[in-house]
Amino acid sequence: MSLYFDHAATSPIRPDVIELMADVMGRVGNASSVHRAGRDARAVLERAREQVGMLVGARAQEIIFTGCGTEANNHVLSAHEHLPILVSAIEHDSVLSGRAGLETVPVLASGLIDLEALDRRLAQGEPGLLSLMLVNNETGAIQPVAQAAKLAKQRGWLVHSDAVQAAGKMALAMGALGVDFLSLSAHKFGGPQGVGALVLRPGMDPKPLLQGGGQERRRRAGTENVAGIAGMGLAAELALDHPIQNDPFQTQIEASLPPGAQVAAAADRRVSTITCAVWPGKTAERMLMKFDLKGVALSSGSACSSGKVGASHVLTAMGFDTDQALSAIRFSTGWNTTQAEVHQLIDAIRSMA
Ligand code: PLP
Repeated sequence: MSLYFDHAATSPIRPDVIELMADVMGRVGNASSVHRAGRDARAVLERAREQVGMLVGARAQEIIFTGCGTEANNHVLSAHEHLPILVSAIEHDSVLSGRAGLETVPVLASGLIDLEALDRRLAQGEPGLLSLMLVNNETGAIQPVAQAAKLAKQRGWLVHSDAVQAAGKMALAMGALGVDFLSLSAHKFGGPQGVGALVLRPGMDPKPLLQGGGQERRRRAGTENVAGIAGMGLAAELALDHPIQNDPFQTQIEASLPPGAQVAAAADRRVSTITCAVWPGKTAERMLMKFDLKGVALSSGSACSSGKVGASHVLTAMGFDTDQALSAIRFSTGWNTTQAEVHQLIDAIRSMA
């Protein structure tokens, strides 16, 4: 048996995307070259820019392709490090790590940012940058980004949202969110690993993170990953055409959990692809091994921090104690999950209880 329930870590690349990328990889051409091959490569990039723009309701010229979601997050935060930076306590490590002076806003037990605490903080001192993720990668909770952005804008703050876990799982519109910057990553919605995008509100021009050539309108130096970007573009188009917004699988998974198991952020709005189960009396590390022996691939908390021993900062910020946080297992589904696989997973879960 081989069951993949770790789409929040990375989702399988769609076959059409592989086919397109193989075709693009078979061609020569640097998108900065003026000759025909270069112009062809540039056309591939521009098509992908349109496709990614459509996914998030942004104009193509406001998309900067990056090497990953991590880079998009780093780009925005680095460009504003001279300003006060406020983040929620449950951001991804690519927002939280290695940066001095970040101020965190607490989350409630629901897993959602505490909007009252945010508003109180926004009222003090000079405005800066607020970075609030749209969907949490461990719990799937959808953060009230539009509300937070409204509060922040009233006080003159800039707003960034890490939408890496949101794309393809919910409707996304830059304008409706009211944010200035949005981060995306292709491998979370059926595209290749190693490609991301930073989307700008028109008029925004953050200082480049990578210096060098004039690629991406001088906003991100380095020869573009043409095949990867083409793959991201097609994956974005497919995600828009086949959204997985009302996937019934998580409800079934939740119902199969043993008595006493608690679903993190259960009461609030979550994407329909992530369930984080706090499993009393168990340790996630051992459970993951047992599931693995049964051929079921799962994660404890965030995949980017798997292998790291320690309680999840997301669950502890929500008020779970260390033992509870160390028992949490994440089931995440995606574009190619089938009902038959979910039935097999449910059998595996029942055999663990
Ligand atoms: N932000 C969130 C919420 C994520 O879940 C991840 C990856 O797990 C990232 C950012 C980083 O994206 P990438 O893997 O493209 O660097």
